[in-house]
Amino acid sequence: MANAPVQRMSQLMAKTLRDDPADAEVLSHKLLVRAGYVRRTAAGIWSWLPLGKKVLANVERVVREEMDAIGAQEVLLPAILPREPYEATGRWEEYGPELFRLQDRKGGDYLLGPTHEEIFTLLVKDQASSYKDLPVILYQIQSKYRDEARPRAGILRGREFLMKDSYSFDLDDEGLTRSYGLHRQAYQRIFERLGLDYRICAATAGAMGGSKSEEFLAPAEAGEDTFADCPNCDFAANTEAISYEPKPADGSAVPAAEDIPTPDTPTIETLAASLGVPASATLKNLLVKVDGEIVAVGVPGDREVDLGKVEAHFAPAAVELVTAEDFVGRPDLVRGYVGPQGLEKVRYIADPRVAPGTSWITGANKADTHTKNVVAGRDFEVDAYVDVVVVDEGDPCPKCGTGLRLDRAIEIGHIFQLGRKYADALKLDVLGQQGKPVRVTMGSYGVGVSRAVAALAEQTADDKGLCWPQEIAPADVHVVAAGKALQTELALDVSAKLAAAGVRVLVDDRAGVSPGVKFTDSELIGVPQILVAGRRSAEGIVELKDRRTGEREEVTVDEAIARLTA
Ligand code: ATP
Ligand code: MG
Repeated sequence: MANAPVQRMSQLMAKTLRDDPADAEVLSHKLLVRAGYVRRTAAGIWSWLPLGKKVLANVERVVREEMDAIGAQEVLLPAILPREPYEATGRWEEYGPELFRLQDRKGGDYLLGPTHEEIFTLLVKDQASSYKDLPVILYQIQSKYRDEARPRAGILRGREFLMKDSYSFDLDDEGLTRSYGLHRQAYQRIFERLGLDYRICAATAGAMGGSKSEEFLAPAEAGEDTFADCPNCDFAANTEAISYEPKPADGSAVPAAEDIPTPDTPTIETLAASLGVPASATLKNLLVKVDGEIVAVGVPGDREVDLGKVEAHFAPAAVELVTAEDFVGRPDLVRGYVGPQGLEKVRYIADPRVAPGTSWITGANKADTHTKNVVAGRDFEVDAYVDVVVVDEGDPCPKCGTGLRLDRAIEIGHIFQLGRKYADALKLDVLGQQGKPVRVTMGSYGVGVSRAVAALAEQTADDKGLCWPQEIAPADVHVVAAGKALQTELALDVSAKLAAAGVRVLVDDRAGVSPGVKFTDSELIGVPQILVAGRRSAEGIVELKDRRTGEREEVTVDEAIARLTA
């Protein structure tokens, strides 16, 4: 076995910190900074120090090996990209403020790549001319740039971050299904090897376009996604991707709609209380602006609107909430008393729970007044049914009806069947078997490489610090020299022997640092095995400690080396 490196802490560029950084909200952020893995350079922009770089490189290696194993070919495309191809697919505009746009000295427009569908499509257009050149899967591991609105949570959501992005190019749907399946398997192997706990969840395709898409979600408190898990069947989905069908009701026996005076009922709660009905009997109507046009969104009064779902429905159009100014010159819109009946000039979208035949108490479009017995399909028409509510714990599983469980999670990977959206926009054809041009179908697949480091930290850390699985850890063994010259000598000797046997060693040979600080640091840094050359060094006895379980044992140097090289 090849000699592995010995990293001496006396020479390591990593200052550990006792206190959490002031701006850190999530565990991985606190610990990665405190253990000296990363440093913040600007909001959402990070520098990786030697320990962090090692962990990042280990994640990259696993990703690379598994991508190579499905026959994907690694390339490296630029991060700074010309405007034109993004103009051709509409994403120069659609990406909105998340896109970093810049100009060169001649005034030419460029962007920092947030994801590379366009450029890969053009690469294949340039390189592949016949059906014989396909299928092909290309990937890269590269920095991506997104001007995220809230770059919080440290490495979990950067404005510059490392992604593995791959793209598949096939002649037909079966080919795409196959390439997608290969990625799905490769991702399962990657996340298993990384030691991440994850779920595969149905997802919406969002701004990327296309049809089938799944997310790999790692359950963690710090996650910004919510996924629903069915305790009874195999259903699991990002809550953003859950939508129900409207179930029509029989509203024929409902009496005619009738206005009721409702002074001093500014909220759904006060309205429901004054009428003695549950909030779920009322219909609330949220007004939004879609590319400037006012649209009303109706949901049961006891449910929250998920603006992300509204945005996804109208994408790429921009969705904003209305402000007081939008009511000026609109006598048809009475603030706080909007109802869908008689709202002629406004498009009305409704949640499926507002199904045809259901009856509601809702605004009367007059101040201090509501209307009861307002029946969907009788008293008002719904222009489109769109599931826009926040999914609640206990909502029925769309597959089997059992109450859903909700959990927070971090999105670590995403796979999409794009279809021909990009190939159409950029005219990617190859000559088919029949001698006629065939439009290529594509998939696009991402792994958040830097995010995976933080997700792993979130899932594996304990109250003492980081706690890496061996394959990802910055070293296999952390050797601690308690302090005396003899102890340091032994520590360095053991380190050299371990390294000669191929074990990656981090050795704390710092002079003038107390044993207590060294022990605390070794737990904070999170290498899986800790070997201490302490009190009994003169007898040739060291202590072996398992970082995860905390189990410790005194053994001879030879025994320690034998175990750590086994
Ligand atoms: P999110 O919903 O978290 O913003 P996304 O849907 O925008 O993610 P994709 O466009 O699918 O993400 O990107 C592929 C992968 O890149 C994601 O699954 C995630 O792991 C990672 N990723 C996306 N945005 C960031 C970011 N700002 N920082 C770190 N990793 C990211
Ligand atoms: Mg995003």
